[in-house]
Amino acid sequence: MFKVVIDLGHGGRDPGAIGQSGVQEKDVTLAVALKVKSILKPVAGVILTREGDDDIDLAPRADVANKAGADCFVSIHCNSAANPKAQGTETYFYPGSEEGKKLAALLQKNLVAALRLADRGVKQANFAVLRLTECPAALAEIAFISNMQEESLLASEDFQQHAAQAIAAGIAEYLGIALPEGGNQTMPEQWKFDIIEKAKQAGLITQDHDPDETAPKWFVLAVALNLLKVVKGQ
Ligand SMILES: [Zn+2]
Repeated sequence: MFKVVIDLGHGGRDPGAIGQSGVQEKDVTLAVALKVKSILKPVAGVILTREGDDDIDLAPRADVANKAGADCFVSIHCNSAANPKAQGTETYFYPGSEEGKKLAALLQKNLVAALRLADRGVKQANFAVLRLTECPAALAEIAFISNMQEESLLASEDFQQHAAQAIAAGIAEYLGIALPEGGNQTMPEQWKFDIIEKAKQAGLITQDHDPDETAPKWFVLAVALNLLKVVKGQ
């Protein structure tokens, strides 16, 4: 079985970047990494650099992979920028590492396809966790926590699940292994969520719904009855 090390950005006293609504990067990376682990567990040995809200320096994170003789190392982060409009997904590899570049490209491809955020591409960076890791390594910046829209996505369980599935798919593709049957790996498009929100505001539905979920007859009739109420002004 292949050994995969998932590095959870930040933790403990280091919250990482914090969004305008207070979402902390260390909590998002923990939630996503735990989901990646449960997806990959049936097909690969998965080691996390932290399992809870622990403090851990950069060098010991790489050590986890080096000591385990890992086949690849993937670090999960949220991006942040001074410009609140900065948005999208990008993935990093260590300059000159051909295998790191290959791993980063597969992670980026799967993340962009699943999350449908702006594709900022694959980039090189001299990050300690990439430099100190002996096996192929990549660092994914899922989305911008400093962008209010992406911050609220990063905090949502559904989005975290899609990000985790994409990361697991990228790793599986890199290692050449098949993932167990997964669910829908693509986030519904934003316009579908906008329609749900408008329907809620108009009083046609009373709660959020998965836009891609099939509607049973009672639901269609409930919406029709709500429409009648709205039209009659009741
Ligand atoms: Zn970070």
